[in-house]
Amino acid sequence: MKNTMIQTSPGHKMNFQYPMKMESHFSPSRRSFLNTAIAATLGIQTARLTASESQVTPKAQIAITFDLEMSRQYPRREMMEWDFQKGNLNQETKNYSLKAAEIASSLNGTIHYFCVGRVLEQKDIQWLKTISKLGHPIGNHTYDHVNVWATEPEKTQFRFQRSPWLLGGKSADQVIRQNIRITTEAMKQRLNISPDGFRTPGGSSTALDDREDLQKMLLAEGFSWVSSKYPRHEYSPPNTEPDHEIYQSILSAQKEAQPYVYPTGLIEIPMSPISDVGAFRTSRWKLKYFLKSVELCIQQAIEQGGVFDFLCHPSIMYVEDPQFETVKLICKLVNQSEGRAELVGLSDIAKRLPRKQS
Ligand SMILES: [Zn+2]
Repeated sequence: MKNTMIQTSPGHKMNFQYPMKMESHFSPSRRSFLNTAIAATLGIQTARLTASESQVTPKAQIAITFDLEMSRQYPRREMMEWDFQKGNLNQETKNYSLKAAEIASSLNGTIHYFCVGRVLEQKDIQWLKTISKLGHPIGNHTYDHVNVWATEPEKTQFRFQRSPWLLGGKSADQVIRQNIRITTEAMKQRLNISPDGFRTPGGSSTALDDREDLQKMLLAEGFSWVSSKYPRHEYSPPNTEPDHEIYQSILSAQKEAQPYVYPTGLIEIPMSPISDVGAFRTSRWKLKYFLKSVELCIQQAIEQGGVFDFLCHPSIMYVEDPQFETVKLICKLVNQSEGRAELVGLSDIAKRLPRKQS
């Protein structure tokens, strides 16, 4: 994901309305229904429901995800050229991505990476091959970091506004499908792997709820799940310490944005707030504020047996968190959870959702 609700790809207007309330597999209402049903079946009195409740809380699923792309305003605020070269990773970003994989592996953790296909044009891709060999999953993040919600071809990416001949007369949906397909092909040819899932560049609070065409296109391209939703929440003003209200807003957004199944059968695994883009680029947080937010969100996920899908960009993190404190913290919290949480890739999260019968 490139950004939050603050900045989007050119010309794309995000719909800020909250999507229709969908019941997640792990929603509190479903859990309490199950608890009540279990209690009734076993003849347990209401007074003992609390004990029963703690027993049926599912194991929290915690994912660390890295979107492998360059980010505007990094490493310096005036850097905007990355908008045209999202997949042209610099050495620092590649080094950080690999080192994070090694750290996570040493702490029994997994990082789910999302590859912008254009990076596979680079001469040396050993860093990414090593990440894959360590067992970390790698998904598809399109070839040029295109906006899948765009309905006009030149609005899919800045690169195509500067160089419209690259569009070759294709419609927006043809551009988007092709951008996804050639990333899958590039991963097969140069990494010898098929993509493990799809994450949209950018995120939307309405996800793909009203875009059945995109759901069907992704299913046809071989994906069973997508990570496209980024929920709305409050942001603190730049260079201001977030107060209780901001953290609460992030926590309630995380609770709201749990995985669900679209009517087409495609699974949605939302990104959990707050992303590094929102925290560091938009609100210019100090690292300690970010670490606090991550810790609160993981505590909540464990209490509720939910999902926390942590999202960041190594192109930002090598500047903001050079000592890998966030990755280390997440692994530590899960390792200390005494089995109440597990570190997983997003496909493991998808597996826990009910499948649509075809
Ligand atoms: Zn992205």
